Amino acid sequence: MGRARPVGRRWFLSTVGRGAVGVALLGVAACSDDGSAGEAGGGTTPGGDGGGTGEQSGGTSGGSPGTLAWSRVDLGFVSAYVLVRGNEAAVVDTGVGGSADEIGAVLDEAGPGWAGVRHVVLTHKHPDHAGSISDVLAEATRAKGYVGTADLSEVDASRPLTGLDDGAVVFGLQVVGTPGHTAGHIAVFEPETRLLVAGDALNNEDSLAGSNPQFTEDETAANASVRKLAALRPRTILVGHGDPVRSSTAAQLQQLAASLS
Ligand SMILES: [Zn+2]
Repeated sequence: MGRARPVGRRWFLSTVGRGAVGVALLGVAACSDDGSAGEAGGGTTPGGDGGGTGEQSGGTSGGSPGTLAWSRVDLGFVSAYVLVRGNEAAVVDTGVGGSADEIGAVLDEAGPGWAGVRHVVLTHKHPDHAGSISDVLAEATRAKGYVGTADLSEVDASRPLTGLDDGAVVFGLQVVGTPGHTAGHIAVFEPETRLLVAGDALNNEDSLAGSNPQFTEDETAANASVRKLAALRPRTILVGHGDPVRSSTAAQLQQLAASLS
């Protein structure tokens, strides 16, 4: 129905007298004006309540109970993700220390809350991803925690974590070994929705790129990991740093992979 924008003040004042339509349109315009609410559509972005960091995916929302849906926990310069299937959830990455409340708020919004969390997966050992692992496991009392095997010895957590290697499956997610950023870096991929949670194997701070060279342990391995991810032809990419990639995704990633030698 109609465009939300532009809704000038004058138009509003002259139209509002006719009833609710003007008010409804103004509501939509207000929503898209702040930018953040735009893409996923109404109803899913919370807006209020202090730390409201949830940015609901859209992607698969409203699907059957077995369908995977995702929400972003936007923690500022880094993001964690909540993946939901029915009333169960997996948390991928935990942000810096002190991020558990914001993750909890998104879990509540998404439905399962802390009680539904069965898995907490760290893409790698760095403190902007693993920083809140102990707080998250303290809240998610029924969850098992995981990190790539080669990073396992360098993450301190309140309960022992399980090492993951390429080819493992957790919560219906394929674990993709993507060494380079760190030796134990992993991504997770869901074949059905072609959703890739890439951690720092990719970033999208300016445009889609590989592992940030400044923080990369092995650049040759990191480039090989980008090529490996490109072969998955993801439809949606969720990155540790930057916005989700949701259009021309596979093509963008293939172009990136081809540009890296
Ligand atoms: Zn990071």
